[in-house]
Amino acid sequence: MIFVKTNNVEETVKLGELLGSFAQKGDCICLDGDLGAGKTHLTKGIAIGLGIDEEITSPTFTIVQEYESSLPLFHFDWYRLADEDELYAMGFSDYGRRGGVMVIEWADNIPSALPKDYLHIRISYGESEDERVLCFEANGKRAQELAKIAAEKIR
Ligand code: ADP
Ligand code: MG
Repeated sequence: MIFVKTNNVEETVKLGELLGSFAQKGDCICLDGDLGAGKTHLTKGIAIGLGIDEEITSPTFTIVQEYESSLPLFHFDWYRLADEDELYAMGFSDYGRRGGVMVIEWADNIPSALPKDYLHIRISYGESEDERVLCFEANGKRAQELAKIAAEKIR
């Protein structure tokens, strides 16, 4: 596990940007942490890193929001999902094959639906108002690679 501290929202966005710039098709990044932890801001950064200049908003009511790019972003929010069935009903199983990058907020809500390989980032509040601690946990080979690249670049 790798821990990274950010001191303000800009640093969190930058970190996302770094991840987005290394992302490859099929990558999955899961984000958990309390409301206001910074999951959506980290996703904003990932989108910038992917070359997307659209405004990113939480897809809480639509479950997924898609952003076009040479490497598209599929931004999920599982906050309101009751169960797996609801997720498969909206076509979740197709996304892994569509050649984009998946970011899933509130992934812990439906752990059974997660792909084999994913980077899990858990964000918690730090000691001061604008401090956040991001804990990177790699599940699978590709996720390990992503976490390693991020860790090397951060140092
Ligand atoms: P979530 O998606 O986890 O609910 P958001 O990204 O929507 O969280 O909101 C995070 C809020 O916390 C924003 O208002 C942001 O400005 C603020 N914030 C303060 N410090 C940080 C930080 N270090 N990283 C991310 N967000 C921060
Ligand atoms: Mg959010």
